[in-house]
Amino acid sequence: MKLFNTLTRQKEEFVPITPGEVKMYSCGPTVYNYFHIGNARPFIMFDLLRRYFEYRGYKVTFVQNFTDIDDKVINKANEEGVTYDVIADRYIKEYFVDAEGLGIKRATYHPRATETMDAIIDIVKTLIDKGHAYVAENGDVYFRTKTFPEYGKLSHQPLEELQAGARISVGELKEDPMDFAVWKAAKPGEPSWQAPWGKGRPGWHIECSAMVNKYLGPTIDIHSGGLDLTFPHHENEIAQSECANGCTFAHYWLHNGFLTIDNEKMSKSKGNFFMVRDAAKEYGYETIRMFMLSAHYRTPLNYSEESLKMNKASLDRLYEARNNLEFRISKAQGDAPTAEEAEALASLQQYKEKFIEAMDDDMNTANALSAIFELMRDINAYSGSHADATRAYLKGAYDLFMELTGVLNIVQKHDDAEDPDKAKIEELIAQRAAAKKAKDFAEADRIRDYLLNEMGVAIKDTRQGVQWSRV
Ligand code: AMP
Ligand code: ZN
Repeated sequence: MKLFNTLTRQKEEFVPITPGEVKMYSCGPTVYNYFHIGNARPFIMFDLLRRYFEYRGYKVTFVQNFTDIDDKVINKANEEGVTYDVIADRYIKEYFVDAEGLGIKRATYHPRATETMDAIIDIVKTLIDKGHAYVAENGDVYFRTKTFPEYGKLSHQPLEELQAGARISVGELKEDPMDFAVWKAAKPGEPSWQAPWGKGRPGWHIECSAMVNKYLGPTIDIHSGGLDLTFPHHENEIAQSECANGCTFAHYWLHNGFLTIDNEKMSKSKGNFFMVRDAAKEYGYETIRMFMLSAHYRTPLNYSEESLKMNKASLDRLYEARNNLEFRISKAQGDAPTAEEAEALASLQQYKEKFIEAMDDDMNTANALSAIFELMRDINAYSGSHADATRAYLKGAYDLFMELTGVLNIVQKHDDAEDPDKAKIEELIAQRAAAKKAKDFAEADRIRDYLLNEMGVAIKDTRQGVQWSRV
């Protein structure tokens, strides 16, 4: 598999540290609100990368954190007059509601910053002991950026350029404008933790360095996040971890492109965002997932109602194809394919090859979806022109279709609850069949119209019988 590595700005063959295993870390949300569709992009796409590795037989350990203590969480808590953990607990719970809706699997570990305090304090201590960080007079701890000559290697910015852009804000006691906070001294009324050098709370960058160490070890295969995290967040994570541990931090750095709206980055601060759950109410969670998959994760992706509607229509087509197959399988006979069917089934493998080729090419989901649509059209054409297709052919085609859509985790849902009107619907369908047999076509049409207009049930006459579905 090839992955585009921000570190080298090239597509590279993925070679794991341990054969057959992948250690992945992705920066997760700051939990002070529901997440918006822009945030959903890395959550969906890097979960998919994990799923794809698993599909290819790798054992994956995947960590995605929750930043549960920072200025935004504290501000929100103050606004509501509650403690920070009430806010964090609430939005972590809500994260899982949306994530589950979007078909995102739970990570192997979802550490919270406040539950990783020992590891955070340990790494800060190591950095201080090694001279890579210092305690300022006010109790803040800063990373001494000049002690890491490779600083800037991820964002490909020379040190001099970064130096020219660096500033010291009011209240900061840095030796150098390039230095950054790894620990913030306690302020009155704010939560704080006891460290050997004083009370305070961790800076944002250090929590990821500490969590990677704790759950995955000093060197990992893949680190990922949104493009906006490249600098300074990921650059700072590299500096902290490589200075503390004396080894390479992550071999592959993956960054998703921005989700835009009117071609501007969707962000909470600009106010141009849609919450995932609001869009889901209108279009369904799975449509949002389909929309994300419709573009390669590195390209910009513009959000629009038309685009969501188009993706909903695409998804509906896939569901219709699947439902048709399920219906046909339930009616068909024959556990061995005919010679012609065996050939048709063998030829379907070309779409699987195409799918894998696309996913192996830096997880090109747009092309992977094309392969699925080609597979669908092939199956529809064959089964449509072979009313006597055996169960063996239909099941073989169905299994492949479900395997590939299953990797992307789309089209897997079934309405488990039996339709409460099932008996009535089937009774009406039987009455219609009787009317047709008696050549009372007006009555047959009346029943069909009644089903559609009064009960929201569409019926389709097929050679295998009448198929009905809710519209
Ligand atoms: P945050 O909760 O703001 O720290 O963001 C969580 C994740 O969402 C990070 O990986 C961000 O890079 C990513 N992210 C935020 N906004 C966007 C966007 N408009 N498009 C793509 N990714 C985004
Ligand atoms: Zn991070």
